[in-house]
Amino acid sequence: MPQPPAPPPPEEEEIVEHFECPNCGAPIEITPDTLVIVCKYCGYTEFRDPGYDVYVLKALDKAEIERRFWERMKKDPDMSPYVGEIQITDITFIYAPFYLANYDAEWYYIGEKTKTEVQGSGKNTRVVTKIIKVRGSGSESGRIAIPGRRYVEELGMKELGDAIEQIDEKSLIPAKEYNWERYIETVLGFDYEPREVPQMVKDIVAEDIKKRIYREKNLTRMLAFLCRVKTKSVKAILAPIYVITYKLRGGIYGIAFSGFDGKQLVAMEPVFTKHMIQYTAGAATLASLGAAATAIAAAVHEGYILIVSLLGLLGAFYLMHKAVGGVRFEH
Ligand SMILES: [Zn+2]
Repeated sequence: MPQPPAPPPPEEEEIVEHFECPNCGAPIEITPDTLVIVCKYCGYTEFRDPGYDVYVLKALDKAEIERRFWERMKKDPDMSPYVGEIQITDITFIYAPFYLANYDAEWYYIGEKTKTEVQGSGKNTRVVTKIIKVRGSGSESGRIAIPGRRYVEELGMKELGDAIEQIDEKSLIPAKEYNWERYIETVLGFDYEPREVPQMVKDIVAEDIKKRIYREKNLTRMLAFLCRVKTKSVKAILAPIYVITYKLRGGIYGIAFSGFDGKQLVAMEPVFTKHMIQYTAGAATLASLGAAATAIAAAVHEGYILIVSLLGLLGAFYLMHKAVGGVRFEH
């Protein structure tokens, strides 16, 4: 049977609006989520009201972040011998959108867990595994930061969200009053609205609580889980992040800094020989342990030794991976 021709792939289309610079009349292209308009010709900047309140965390300037980068390199015993060879190749500055929400949660659950008991004595000793039902309830008040864009791939974004959860809301500046002229590089807009946030908070918080109960109560199964999450407040926040890219001995690495307090968020560091040796030595030890345990397990049919051997092998793979990967993450 003849097949209809396949439709052409959907094009990546972004609606572009045209805007005229009120200062010099030059055309400026903006998208619907543009928050800060910047004129490339005269430097005019304007915050564009998206229809809801947006707050800003004041950014430290680039020079301060650069100073912290060098200070950090000099203090790090792994990096300090190479400070003279490090070359900064790029400093990216981004104002990234987040929603900061305060919530109250209440939950109730019924679950199952297994319990093993030794019964009897002497020749009649046996191990009995029982399934027992557990139930419980709880409540908490918390705070959560969710990215205001669905897809933002940048080193340190997750960690920046964690840092935002700790801020004092008094330090937030209304975006309309902020001095945007100093930070016109990249301001990312929100791609969904604050009214959509409570549903997301509900899903994320309920899922987190559920995982926590599983872990803390050692559950094997959840029979019932009810969670009520009430979002008390939502604030749209623009948070600054700096990513410094540097070159060292032919490799390129990056460190992300929180732009409002200058703390390191995450570092993608080169792995030096010393670490390589540690990792590979660790891998060899674990692998041989694993092999030995496998042999013993085969001989005595003991399930738990088999688990030890598997863990040993997994550990070995992990360490080998780290050693050959060439990159080490540090928080
Ligand atoms: Zn202009």
